[in-house]
Amino acid sequence: MPVALKPKLGIHLSSDAKCSKIECDKFTAINELAKRRGFFWSSFEIYGGSGGFVTYGPLGARLKQNVEAKLRELFVKKLGIFEIESSIIAPGRIFEASGHVDHFKEPMVECQSCHQRFRADHLLEEKGISSAEAEKMTLDEVAKEMDYHSVVCPDCQGKFGYPQRYLTMFETTIGPYSGSTGYGRPEAAQNIFVEFNRLYTAARERLPFGCIQIGHALRNEISPRQGLIRLREFTIADLEFFFDPEEPICDKLKEVENDVLPILLCETRLKECEETTEFTVKDALDKRIILSEWQAFFMAMAKRLLVEIGVPANKQRFIEKLTWEKAHYSSQSFDQEVYVDRWGWVEVSGHAYRTDFDLSCHMKASGVDMTVYKEYPTAVEKEELVVKPIMAKLGPVYKGDSGKVAGLLAKLPAQQIADAMDKDGSIMVDNYQILKEQVDIAKQKIIVRGTRFVPHVVEPSFGSDRLFYVALEYAYGIKDDRVIMSFPRSIVPIQIGVYPLMSKDGLDVKAKEIQNMLASEGFMTEFDETGSIGRRYARADEVGVQLGITIDYDSLEDDTVTIRDRDTWQQVRTPAKNLPKLLHQYFENKINFEQLGSIIRS
Ligand SMILES: [Zn+2]
Repeated sequence: MPVALKPKLGIHLSSDAKCSKIECDKFTAINELAKRRGFFWSSFEIYGGSGGFVTYGPLGARLKQNVEAKLRELFVKKLGIFEIESSIIAPGRIFEASGHVDHFKEPMVECQSCHQRFRADHLLEEKGISSAEAEKMTLDEVAKEMDYHSVVCPDCQGKFGYPQRYLTMFETTIGPYSGSTGYGRPEAAQNIFVEFNRLYTAARERLPFGCIQIGHALRNEISPRQGLIRLREFTIADLEFFFDPEEPICDKLKEVENDVLPILLCETRLKECEETTEFTVKDALDKRIILSEWQAFFMAMAKRLLVEIGVPANKQRFIEKLTWEKAHYSSQSFDQEVYVDRWGWVEVSGHAYRTDFDLSCHMKASGVDMTVYKEYPTAVEKEELVVKPIMAKLGPVYKGDSGKVAGLLAKLPAQQIADAMDKDGSIMVDNYQILKEQVDIAKQKIIVRGTRFVPHVVEPSFGSDRLFYVALEYAYGIKDDRVIMSFPRSIVPIQIGVYPLMSKDGLDVKAKEIQNMLASEGFMTEFDETGSIGRRYARADEVGVQLGITIDYDSLEDDTVTIRDRDTWQQVRTPAKNLPKLLHQYFENKINFEQLGSIIRS
């Protein structure tokens, strides 16, 4: 699959990556393998395809589910984070309130000859203008830079027109009413914010709590050309964690405080340098590199997640976002990046401190109160100004309207009335003039037991398709000129292959029995009886089958089987009846391969 070598947003091209040979890089190899063996391929192939859409095949769908299961295990199961599932389409008002309609735009240029459209910032990156610089440019500046660097259409060398900002949300109408605009969600976070009140009830009205949504999202990318890295329909995992900004303590920090986070700091980036600085979580917080404890906690968890799906710690880093790179809602942001063969550093998750931005926006736009009440440890006594209308004096003047006048007065802040009386001796309420002597203004002591506030939010957000891709890339290896996909045990799409040495003499029947037994134990199995045993092993290695169980003539005599390890090609012999217990322990990472039976020396 020919793919243009183009740096895109969120992908920081490093010099190593530029040198790698395109014709034999892992991206090409993986895309070829993925298509041939059923991990993924471009959708709608029979109609010529459509950029930015993929279909996960039988193996890929399973692998992706396993990667997402890891996310659920780490966050939902272990931390007790809620999970919701909401709709992909939402009424326009939601994305107007959230700021997306105004901000979710990219600078675009159109070729005046072939009318192809491109991301202007991506074209400029090829001229050596960093994404950091390109992102803060105005359209005029973009036009000037395009001109200065004589950027022409990569497809036909045509001239570009003036750049425009293009809204990258899919727009639709809800029902047959053209006035009722809806958008495909470009992320899954807003669904969580708009449901805050119900979630808070489910949390028994206590902070902190978190909620994740793992689901499809849509972004109408201008020119997606990077396989799974940039899609128009993709899976996102947005986790919103709500806490009291006055009590920002993360009670789980102890578990991760010594985890090391390699961070590429803003100050380093501004020197055009790519060197990361290593901080323990504790250090990063003490030195105010990361402002929120919860954010630091989730960054450490994100690093662990990537290690669990097979990306070594030294191929991960966090990059601090510059002021103009941050999303419109964020006060501090880091991207977690993984090094990939073709493009260098690619973002796999974003970590934003969203403060109270989203809930406040939705409160304002919907008119619904989303504050929470907090009781003080001890009640506080405060003095409050109180205005009471003197009805005996209002009655004779306003007659039947005096009740209404009193009501209008009650709606005004007491301080405002007091100030007006001091200054003018009266105040106008609608068309009524109220005189100083018609009200009683006094200070009164009140007991305040608590306060209302808008919770703050930190958000880790993962691109599921990118997690899937990096899992594939880090599983990919070559041994004796053969491809081996060495997935970690816990995400492997097929756990066990079952092979009769010959498909005759009852070996096939016995093998089927064993496969059925393992399947009913909950293992993901595959049965293969075609070709030589060597060829079957090779086929299994190529899709990453963790263990191969072979049934031979001895198996019929003594009920033992051979188990083969995908990565080392080592073999052990073990009684078939022990398989369920041993294999459960093995896939729970409680025992090693050597403990599955007695080693066969070859
Ligand atoms: Zn063109």
